[in-house]
Amino acid sequence: MNHALYIERIQSSLVRLKLQRMTEILESVAKTAEEQGKSYLSFLNELLEEEVASKEQRRVETALKISGLPFIKGIDEFDFTFQPKLDKKKVMSLFDLTFIRQKGNVIFLGPPGVGKTHLAVSLALKACQAGMSIYFTTMEELIVKLKKDHEAGRKGRGRSYHKSALVIVDEVGYTPIDREECNLFFRFIANRYEKASTIITSNKSFSDWTELFQDPVIVTAFLDRLLHHSVIINIRGNSYRLKGKIGKEKLKSDQIEEKVAHFS
Ligand code: ADP
Ligand code: MG
Repeated sequence: MNHALYIERIQSSLVRLKLQRMTEILESVAKTAEEQGKSYLSFLNELLEEEVASKEQRRVETALKISGLPFIKGIDEFDFTFQPKLDKKKVMSLFDLTFIRQKGNVIFLGPPGVGKTHLAVSLALKACQAGMSIYFTTMEELIVKLKKDHEAGRKGRGRSYHKSALVIVDEVGYTPIDREECNLFFRFIANRYEKASTIITSNKSFSDWTELFQDPVIVTAFLDRLLHHSVIINIRGNSYRLKGKIGKEKLKSDQIEEKVAHFS
C-alpha cells in the first residue's frame, strides 16, 4: 500500500472510532515523525495524548456550559489583598477538593460584592476540571424547580440539582420564603446530607436565618445537618463592585483634608 492510501484508510478508521483530533492531525504528525526519525511508540503516544487532551477539553467545556455558572472565573483572578480580613489559607485549602470527596459543605457569608459567588464559582471550576459533576443555581431558581417537581409528584432524584457531586445554592436569604418552600428546601438539604457536597452563599447571618425560614424547629434541624460537616467562610470587608468608587471617595476626602490643613 502506498503512503496516501495508508493515510486514507487510517483516517476512515479514526472517523468510525470517533477519534476526531487524531483524524485531524494524523497526516502532519506522521510527516514530522518520519522526518525526525521518531519511533513507532513515540508517534502513537503523541497521537493518543492529543486525542485525550482534546476530549478532556471538550468534556470540561460542555460541563461548564450546562452547569448554570453565572460567569467563569478562577481563584487566580481573585485578589486576596483586596480582602485582607479573609483567611487566604483557609480558602485555598478548599481547592484540594477534599471537602467534596468527604461530602462536606461550604458556606460563604458576607455582604454583597465581597466575592462569595466568585469563590463558589472558582471551586466549581476546579471540581469540574477534576472530573466532578457540578451544578449552580440561585436559591430563587432552586425553589421554583423544587416546587415544580413536588407539584408533579416527582422526587426529582435524577435532576442535576440532586445528583451532582457539587451543587451551589447562591443567594440564600435574598428573598423570603414561605413555610412550604422552606420545607422543600429543608428536604433538599436533608437529601444531600452526607451524600454529596453543597456550597451555600448568603448575605444573612445564621441568626437571621431563623426569621428567614419562619419555622424555628425546621431551622434548627436544617442548620444541624447543613453545618455538621462544613467549612464556614465569613467575609467581612468592602464590596469589590465599589472598589474604584471607594478609592475615589478616599482620594476626595484625602484632598479635602489636605485643603483643610492648608487653610488652618
Ligand atoms: P458577592 O457574591 O459576594 O455579592 P461577587 O462574587 O459576585 O460578590 O463579586 C462581585 C464582582 O466582583 C464579581 O465580578 C467578582 O468576580 C468580583 N470580585 C469580588 N471580589 C473580588 C476579589 N477579591 N478579587 C477580584 N475580583 C473580585
Ligand atoms: Mg453573589
